[in-house]
Amino acid sequence: APGETDYDVVVIGAGPGGYVCAIRAAQLGFKVACVEKRATLGGTCLNVGCIPSKALLQSSENYHAVTHDFASHGIGIGNVSLDLARMQARKGEVVDANVKGVEFLFKKNKVTWLKGLGRIEGPGRLTVDGKPVTAKHIVIASGSDSAPLPGVDVDEKTIVTSTGALELSSVPKKMVVIGGGVIGLELGSVWHRLGAEVTVIEFLDRLVPGIDGEVAKQFQRVLSRQGLKMKLGHKVTKAEKSDKGVTLTVEPAKGGTAETIAADIVLLAIGRVAASEKMGLKEAGIELDPRGRIVTDAHYATSVPGIYAIGDVITGPMLAHKAEEEGVAVAELLAGQAGHVNYDAIPSVVYTWPEVAAVGRTEEQLKADGVGYKTGKFPFTANGRARAMGMTDGFVKVLACDTTDRVLGVHIIGPGAGELIAEATMAIEFGASSEDIARTCHAHPTLSEAVKEAALDVEKRAIHI
Ligand code: FAD
Repeated sequence: APGETDYDVVVIGAGPGGYVCAIRAAQLGFKVACVEKRATLGGTCLNVGCIPSKALLQSSENYHAVTHDFASHGIGIGNVSLDLARMQARKGEVVDANVKGVEFLFKKNKVTWLKGLGRIEGPGRLTVDGKPVTAKHIVIASGSDSAPLPGVDVDEKTIVTSTGALELSSVPKKMVVIGGGVIGLELGSVWHRLGAEVTVIEFLDRLVPGIDGEVAKQFQRVLSRQGLKMKLGHKVTKAEKSDKGVTLTVEPAKGGTAETIAADIVLLAIGRVAASEKMGLKEAGIELDPRGRIVTDAHYATSVPGIYAIGDVITGPMLAHKAEEEGVAVAELLAGQAGHVNYDAIPSVVYTWPEVAAVGRTEEQLKADGVGYKTGKFPFTANGRARAMGMTDGFVKVLACDTTDRVLGVHIIGPGAGELIAEATMAIEFGASSEDIARTCHAHPTLSEAVKEAALDVEKRAIHI
């Protein structure tokens, strides 16, 4: 009939932004389809991102514990061997279970998977592998790709992105990671724990831009102690391949004498760029910013009516949970509800060991914004559980407003930081004061007591330091 469309909502991309949006829209009563060109659902995150990287981080952590830590617990093990093929197969099984889980959820919620490449034709109109589809609302969740670096040609064998680095079939002798950000440090850690000599080359003179400066310094110290080599304030200008591997030309970022560094495997991890090409966006009149991200208003609407965008392809932190929250918010907005994302309460985690986790603002940001704040800190060396675990590297830092005591930021480096940050995120979401955390009973002996003690330290009344 005239005016009728094939679907109420069509989502392009089945990553954490897209698949969550599709499911939430279906829950709200919409007739929903999700377009995905990959052979499996789940996007970057489930196929080549968060999930496989965490599977390998866990396996390599186990291997490292057996070879380095078990003896101190009085556990002797004879010859430890590494079966990398099995480790990789396990990673594959973990990914498989997750992507099939999304397929199950689509069936359960009656979301149709339209397999193929989605292309926008105009408001309410798209094609999937050339076949026309109509929808009242279109949500673009096309995600991101690894950023290229001129002079460094990726072949996913010897010069790899994170995707190739998750697939290596032998442990490299020498690995160079270009980029000291989250992905480079996580995957660098994986291969370092499995026996590779790893050098991280970073343009800036610090690791993981954006994290609290004090945490970044401690993080660098701990990783260096573990044996990761750091070359900060340097840039790679050329990568030449030969039968022996790769020779990189490296220069100080500020200019100066170039040197060469040899590697078996080079991991290019200098960031990610929005995946906004080859889908007809410019032709359809959808505005992009200079970095290729889709421009949206506060309700995720693009410059073309009825077309929305969420996740890595728009501005903001490139994180799976941020994409998911936006997916839920846009579906609820389409249903006339008050979908909303609180960007002040989005946690971020680096899954190295120790882990690094943060939520809210850093000291540097508070200083730059002229906000008065108080600081509370507590080291894991003074936490009983951390001592029992033999994992005392790191600390918790709580930043609270100096007039209202409202928690403004929490920064953790230490064991299980990625789990501990949930409490701090809840505190910020609920507008809690540091005193609220400090007066909340925390189980003993747990790592979470370090969060409580850091909150107590805001008023300089921590008990255990
Ligand atoms: P994506 O997950 O990128 O999904 C987009 C999907 O859209 C893709 O499957 C793509 O095939 C599909 N698509 C694109 N265009 C079209 C089209 N025209 N037609 C059909 N299909 C299309 N984040 C975290 O929060 N925690 C982590 O631990 C973490 N670890 C990571 C580790 C690695 C190695 C990498 C690379 C990333 C990691 N991330 C992590 C980031 C996280 O993966 C992304 O933030 C997240 O996947 C973004 O979700 P998205 O839905 O926006 O896009």
